[in-house]
Formats: sequence, C-alpha cells, structure tokens
Amino acid sequence: MRKEPPGGEELAIAAPHCYCGRLARLQTSWTESNPLRRFFRGKSSCGFFVWVDIEMPRRERALMAWLLRTKREVEDQIVRARAREKKLWIALFMSWAFVFMLNGKLGR
Ligand SMILES: [Zn+2]
Repeated sequence: MRKEPPGGEELAIAAPHCYCGRLARLQTSWTESNPLRRFFRGKSSCGFFVWVDIEMPRRERALMAWLLRTKREVEDQIVRARAREKKLWIALFMSWAFVFMLNGKLGR
C-alpha cells in the first residue's frame, strides 16, 4: 500500500548524471532515520548517491517515523478487517443457503 507522498517525485531541478554518465533516478527514502527524504541514485551499481532534501530535525524525524509506523499499523488492521469481513460474508451466505435448504426440505 506504499504510495508516494504528494509531490514526492516532482522536482524543479534537473536530474544529475551519475558516475557512468546516465541520468540519476529520483527516489524517496522510507527509512526511520530519513523518512520521506528524497535522493538521486545511479541506475547501475556505480555508487552514485546524493540527497535532495536536507536532513529533518531530530524531533520532526522521530514524529515522522512514528506517523509512518502508525500508518503501517492502520493499513495492517484494514487488511485484517477486510479478510475478517470476507469470512463473515461467506459465513452469512452459507447460513442463508442452509436456511433455504432446510426450508425447502420442510416444505415438502
Ligand atoms: Zn551510474
């Protein structure tokens, strides 16, 4: 369910060239130490790497890490709730089918 934040991949500056002369790719960091911090990286293993955004202040970084963790937990809960809902719908359908079957037998 990972989605780029709004404007995450848009940048007014041109992409730099990596050590092998190709255009570097803009990416977003999702680590707790550098949440949402964008960087340029070479496509190959030339090792080119440069941060785009400045480092977040410690408190903001901790807050962002907490928000991302909470977001992940909520997303997990949604996935589990949807799975549970699906099971309940199946159980409901089965119980109705059972009731109809039973009614059909009793009616005869
Ligand atoms: Zn390169």
